[in-house]
Amino acid sequence: MAGIDLHTHSTASDGTDSPAELVGKAAQLQLGTLALTDHDTLDGLDEAEEAATTHGIRFIRGCELAVAYGGDELHLLAYWVPRASSALDAFIAGQHQRRRQRNQDMVARLVELGLDICMEDVVAVAGQGTVGRPHIAVVLKEKGYVATTTEAFERYIGRRGCAFVPRDLCSPQEGLSLMAGEGATMVLAHPCLSLDAPRSGWDALLRDLCRWGLSGIEAYHSAHSHTSVRLCVELAARHNLVLTGGSDYHGAAKPGVRLGVGSVNMRLHNLLLEKLQARRLSDGLPL
Ligand code: AMP
Ligand code: FE
Ligand code: FE
Ligand code: ZN
Repeated sequence: MAGIDLHTHSTASDGTDSPAELVGKAAQLQLGTLALTDHDTLDGLDEAEEAATTHGIRFIRGCELAVAYGGDELHLLAYWVPRASSALDAFIAGQHQRRRQRNQDMVARLVELGLDICMEDVVAVAGQGTVGRPHIAVVLKEKGYVATTTEAFERYIGRRGCAFVPRDLCSPQEGLSLMAGEGATMVLAHPCLSLDAPRSGWDALLRDLCRWGLSGIEAYHSAHSHTSVRLCVELAARHNLVLTGGSDYHGAAKPGVRLGVGSVNMRLHNLLLEKLQARRLSDGLPL
């Protein structure tokens, strides 16, 4: 039975395989279906889709969207993202503008602290992918301000670092309504990685997310323990959510996570995909 992977990243965001390389690897592993879900961008989808056609793999156009949740962020996976949507393009452009501003604000704080760093240094490290804190960390290391990128996060740009600026994200309602309104099927990504809320808080959150257009919950994920999976299964049953799964493969950026199986040897069954497709059809949406 051909496996599936519904959560992967390419060089279009913070993965290290190009979209076409990623699809090539999925073909080698004989995966039947692959979704590319780069962070806050649709840039890799056309290339991946073309490669998938060449390799005879079913491809789902996806995206992993970050939205604000308390002082933290939630990740939402969007599947069957439309090919052309001006509303979606404008939304993604807004996310990028806010991200650029945030990077600039963090670099400005570092300069205020007396460090010699500028945005050009950071952009040079990032290459073509989305620019973010990992690239600032590399610059700080290359310039000798820290010994490791981990230290860069601890001292400067991590949540408790002195140059940290939180991301300016849209609300879950805004993200879900827009994406679902444009015809995407929305899934809460790795909830047990994002949420340390007490158990009682989850039902209230999921009720809201469902009202705004959530259809599924990612129960099977590289970072989910058996207990997390069980909790997701219970929540899915209570809130009529479809269960999904994916590795969250990032290539060499997350060496312990393998395409198709993640870090815990998951077997992602095609049945998950069939249920997701059935949900779409029952919502009157095309596959
Ligand atoms: P950004 O999207 O710019 O906020 O950067 C987020 C990325 O930074 C995450 O995907 C991680 O890869 C990385 N990151 C976040 N916190 C840490 C940390 N404490 N140590 C190392 N990497 C981190
Ligand atoms: Fe990532
Ligand atoms: Fe994520
Ligand atoms: Zn991811």
